[in-house]
Amino acid sequence: MDNLESAIRKLVMANRILGHEGVVDAFGHISVRHPDRPDRYLLSCSRSPELVKTADIMEFDLDSNPVDAKGRAPYLERFIHGTVYQARPDVMSVMHNHSYEIIPFGVSKMPLRPIFHSAGRLGGTIPVWDIRKKFGDTNLLVVNNELGLDLVACLANNTVALMRGHGCVVTGPTVETTVLTSIYLRINARLQIDAMHMGEVTYLSPGEIELSSQRNKPKVGDERAWEYLCSRAKVDINAL
Ligand SMILES: [Zn+2]
Repeated sequence: MDNLESAIRKLVMANRILGHEGVVDAFGHISVRHPDRPDRYLLSCSRSPELVKTADIMEFDLDSNPVDAKGRAPYLERFIHGTVYQARPDVMSVMHNHSYEIIPFGVSKMPLRPIFHSAGRLGGTIPVWDIRKKFGDTNLLVVNNELGLDLVACLANNTVALMRGHGCVVTGPTVETTVLTSIYLRINARLQIDAMHMGEVTYLSPGEIELSSQRNKPKVGDERAWEYLCSRAKVDINAL
């Protein structure tokens, strides 16, 4: 199996896992930078992640133009992916989702902060991008490069950014890491809301976040977690 075929199969697996774990529903998407061409990325055509197959994976340039669409319709919000890859050479995988648990943190003054060790990977700063600040009233979707670049400016050098009233963007050095970060982002949001109901919350310290995040490196244990997630999703790798 060559690099491209292997990357496509892993990306399909990532789609199935994110669907199975409830990080995405009908909407949301994950991409990977092309393994042989850093000026391109791979992303499914417009399909719910739980249903994505290898034949759905399309190739895009970093302006998010399809290289060969073959009649397939791309996601409207693919510009999130292309603009992150343009701005962040360290990022090899990008995920966008609408997890309901994170929405309260994008529309209130309460910052989302890591509260348990597995969420140290989120990083100490999770900025909130408000599309309305620069673009006024919109349908809130990132449907061109101008919107994507503004989102990416807010993301800056962080791992995750929330999108006010919409969802989030998650980045990582591998597909596996990005999937795990997306899963723990959602869990952290739920636990933080639970903990806030109980009174004052003790968050991870900056030092604890640094020690548990190993920023921009695949975390020790990601391989074990990936094997577990593949098993849970019960995907027949030969039927992708
Ligand atoms: Zn969206």
